[in-house]
Amino acid sequence: MKNDRLDNLVTLSREFGREDRAWAILGEGNTSTLSGKGTYYVKASGSRLGQASREDFTEIDLKKALEYIKKPSLSDEEVMHALESIKVDSTAKLPSVETFVHAVCLSEGDCEWVGHGHPESVLSILCSAMGTKPYTEHIFPDAVVVCGRHFAVVPYVDPGFKLAHAVSDSLSRFKSAHGRSPKIIFLENHGPFILGQSHIDVINTMQMLDKWSKILIANYNFGGPKYLSELDSDRIEERIDEAYRRKRLLESNK
Ligand SMILES: [Zn+2]
Repeated sequence: MKNDRLDNLVTLSREFGREDRAWAILGEGNTSTLSGKGTYYVKASGSRLGQASREDFTEIDLKKALEYIKKPSLSDEEVMHALESIKVDSTAKLPSVETFVHAVCLSEGDCEWVGHGHPESVLSILCSAMGTKPYTEHIFPDAVVVCGRHFAVVPYVDPGFKLAHAVSDSLSRFKSAHGRSPKIIFLENHGPFILGQSHIDVINTMQMLDKWSKILIANYNFGGPKYLSELDSDRIEERIDEAYRRKRLLESNK
């Protein structure tokens, strides 16, 4: 029997919550996917990604979530009420506080799958005095192929409703600069949001970002990163053979 979206969301979540990976521990991180019927599934508040099952996801009415996001601000009490009122099934678990950020990513980020974690390697850089600066240029070709040539950045902001607005602003700035959506949104002092076309795409991107981050950290022990030229990175992004390889990577492990 073919896995349905919810099964694949469980797979994505368990991969994100694997203890050996240190991408998300305890109740950290959240994942989501569009259902194809005007709703999306998002992790329930407090659920552990590494032990996720189908019951740990709440189906959300996307249109209702986006209506709330149009409001300039909401109090903490209003956010709790909103999270309850956008559930398709009123008896389902309370969705993650980042439910509104997922709505923004799924509706404005040209993606169908979203994964968010707090990886030790990425946070070692995002929480440093340098912020996202070490990622500004690439250090090896595979990161360009899998993670994308450019990424979006959101300075630290209160998680939840305010963060949804900040992510929306950052996505629209990115799209007007690059003509497409990013695969990675870096939230400074918080963690990355990965936007993907499939659950495999999201796992691949986080796996490569984790490797990229570990190498960057090691580079600083040896005089700092030696960056590829902008021209070389642009060239890798445009190469036809790399586009083919990118496509094959998405096909594997299905
Ligand atoms: Zn988070």
